[in-house]
Amino acid sequence: MTANWSEASEAVRQAKSILIVTHISPDGDAIGSLLGLANGLREMGKQVDAAVDGGVPLFLNYIPGQETVLGELKAGQWDLMVSVDASDEERTGEAGKFGRTHSTQVVNLDHHATNTQFGNFHLVVPEAASASEVVYDWLVYMGHPVSQASATALLTGMVTDTLAFRTSHVIPRTLMVAHDLMAAGAPLFDIINWTMVSRPISDFLLWQRVFPSVKYDDGIVSAVILPDDVKAVGLSDISDAGLVSTLVTADEVMIAIIFKVQEDNTVKLSMRSKVGYDVAQVAFALGGGGHKPAAGATVAGTLDEVWAKVMPMLREVVNRGKLMSG
Ligand code: AMP
Ligand code: MN
Ligand code: MN
Repeated sequence: MTANWSEASEAVRQAKSILIVTHISPDGDAIGSLLGLANGLREMGKQVDAAVDGGVPLFLNYIPGQETVLGELKAGQWDLMVSVDASDEERTGEAGKFGRTHSTQVVNLDHHATNTQFGNFHLVVPEAASASEVVYDWLVYMGHPVSQASATALLTGMVTDTLAFRTSHVIPRTLMVAHDLMAAGAPLFDIINWTMVSRPISDFLLWQRVFPSVKYDDGIVSAVILPDDVKAVGLSDISDAGLVSTLVTADEVMIAIIFKVQEDNTVKLSMRSKVGYDVAQVAFALGGGGHKPAAGATVAGTLDEVWAKVMPMLREVVNRGKLMSG
């Protein structure tokens, strides 16, 4: 993994117009790193566009600058494109595709170990708990003081990717960066409440429908979400409302997986695991990506076909983990 801090910073210095994109189905870190960087670069006098297919999810609409994010890119030409929190080009969707062909150079800023090293300059830091933390380091490297608007965005990314500082990749430095962002005016209590605690009743109604599908077998727990489940409770996207993260907390469970059946004969997989069990390698083998404890992929086929393909792969991860832990 490489980090071309000086080359990437020089590219920013020379650029007048900059486009920032992130991964599709954006999470808190995708939007946090996108807006943390967009706000910072605008303060530096750059002309900045930020885009992600479909725009900013509702639960993140408190982040300063969110109203500037384009849900669709139709026109434009930029000196530089920066991709944040996306492990490969495909993950940046239509906005990324348009941006690539209309930008002179590309900076790839990320923290996924599975990053494919696309782009001209890389700021890929797998030790970072979030892409937002890498953006923080970059703004500091460029000598730009982090404003309250940037800090609020970046602390959002840190909080969501660490489940409010509860994951194993949180180290003393993570808290040091969080400290600096809080000192710059980011409201930690509100951010945790808005992103982790408060949830619409439709989340529970979705769980109510989905719980009968929960199956547990020797360390692996699974659940199935059908398109009708999502529609019935009025959720617009095919989200799991945090179910997979909850299932993995069961004492006996090493891996939790949700099969989200979609209408185009594909199944979206959402996986979580305990420390020592790597689901990123399974996601990667299926054409997806993510991190050891949280990964996903979209696989073509019916539920039965995808199930038959994926469950043996997870079984192998559990067995290997058992061997390693003696
Ligand atoms: P999710 O279960 O959707 O919350 O995703 C968990 C993690 O896996 C996140 O880090 C995502 O960025 C990553 N991920 C999910 N789906 C994909 C995919 N199709 N390709 C690459 N990474 C993915
Ligand atoms: Mn993300
Ligand atoms: Mn991230």
